[in-house]
Amino acid sequence: LSERLGGVFDRLTKQGALSDEDVKTALREVRVALLEADVSLPVARDFVKAVQEKATGQAVTKSITPGQQVVKIVHDELQHILRGEGEPGELKIDNAPAPILMVGLQGGGKTTTTGKLAKRLTEKNGKRVLMASLDIYRPAAQQQLAILGTQIGVDTLPIVAGESAVQIAKRAKQQATLGGYDVYMLDTAGRLQIDETLMKEVEDVRDAVNPRETLLVVDGLTGQVAVEVAEEFDGKIGITGVVLTRMDGDGRGGAALSMRAVTGKPIKFVGMGEKMDALETFEPERVAGRILGMGDIVALVEKAQETIEAEQAERMMKRFQKGQFNMNDLKSQLEQMQKMGGMEGIMGMMPGMGKMTKQMEGAGIDDRILKQQIALIQSMTKRERANPALLQASRKKRIAKGSGMEVSELNKLLKMQRQMGDMMKKMGKGGMLKQAMKGML
Ligand code: GDP
Ligand code: MG
Repeated sequence: LSERLGGVFDRLTKQGALSDEDVKTALREVRVALLEADVSLPVARDFVKAVQEKATGQAVTKSITPGQQVVKIVHDELQHILRGEGEPGELKIDNAPAPILMVGLQGGGKTTTTGKLAKRLTEKNGKRVLMASLDIYRPAAQQQLAILGTQIGVDTLPIVAGESAVQIAKRAKQQATLGGYDVYMLDTAGRLQIDETLMKEVEDVRDAVNPRETLLVVDGLTGQVAVEVAEEFDGKIGITGVVLTRMDGDGRGGAALSMRAVTGKPIKFVGMGEKMDALETFEPERVAGRILGMGDIVALVEKAQETIEAEQAERMMKRFQKGQFNMNDLKSQLEQMQKMGGMEGIMGMMPGMGKMTKQMEGAGIDDRILKQQIALIQSMTKRERANPALLQASRKKRIAKGSGMEVSELNKLLKMQRQMGDMMKKMGKGGMLKQAMKGML
């Protein structure tokens, strides 16, 4: 992908805002690259569309090219989709004994992952774990798990010949309860392909133990197949998370993206080898970097953006010191507040601002109000923002209507702008402003 995009991006070197054409050209290549990384076609298509909407019209940060900017946007979006909700690597295993059901196709890495996860839960989380193999079909499958158990020092359910998968599951539950285990893990049998008998058996096991976590173990190198398997298992059994194995291989990990996009289920862990300690918490950033293969550009853009923000703050401060504080300034302050967790956070950082903070609290400045205030400013024209003195009754009405708020709200906002302007001016004289702004950055 690097070389491919590199070529395109060399051609996109104008500065300013990202044009339709910039974005389209870059994304055409991104799409091909995603497909090459084994991302499924519809997922790649949706992804590119989402990025296109986000990227077009975005300002290009000084000192980087539009192409580099697009890479950063693509990377952020990838990471966003890969992350989803919840913490990767966390499992719901309270209420002992908590059943964890391991499902997937044969050869995907279920048994290996069962061992790895049992080891991790034992060593890292201090849990008492019992493992049981429900694979009554493959010769010596149950023994395979028993051997792993001995290796890693985790108990396995004694093997009883002739039992069904459901019978083994029930016995595991009983043993886990009696033996005071925190967790019991059920390693189910797989098939080479999904079939009705397999699904029915897993359903029966699920109903017998009501698992806290149902983890789908899939080979991360199988790309599209992995996604189909995930859809199928999620539809029939209902999974709570995914473990992608063989991520130590040279695949680009595109399956991770498709998997997230199609099932919406979190990827919890990745298998990084055959050894029992080769299980890692899923890290969206790393996988996004791998799918895209352009980590250095992403870092460069982040650095450039930081520098620009600092420069902007410096420029703003100079204006404040001169007593210039218009609606554009107020808007960026409000946005900054949103980022930093509201008014209190900011005022708390400014010396001697206790009284002002109380006043603001009295005015009810919280996140919702910040949003409303920003909406009010957005309904103003450019000229009005630069010069709020223009705002007479009819303009006020128009703005209030445009943002769905009352004129009284707008008046409050105007008062705030005046107050803050005065405050900034005063602080500027004493050199306090500089100090305060430093604290905010
Ligand atoms: P199951 O049929 O789903 O139980 O799959 P197994 O756990 O028996 O694994 C099948 C093969 O894949 C074994 O040779 C494992 O050592 C190997 N394997 C499992 N996970 C990984 C992984 O993350 N990386 C690599 N390189 N090999 C793995
Ligand atoms: Mg197995």
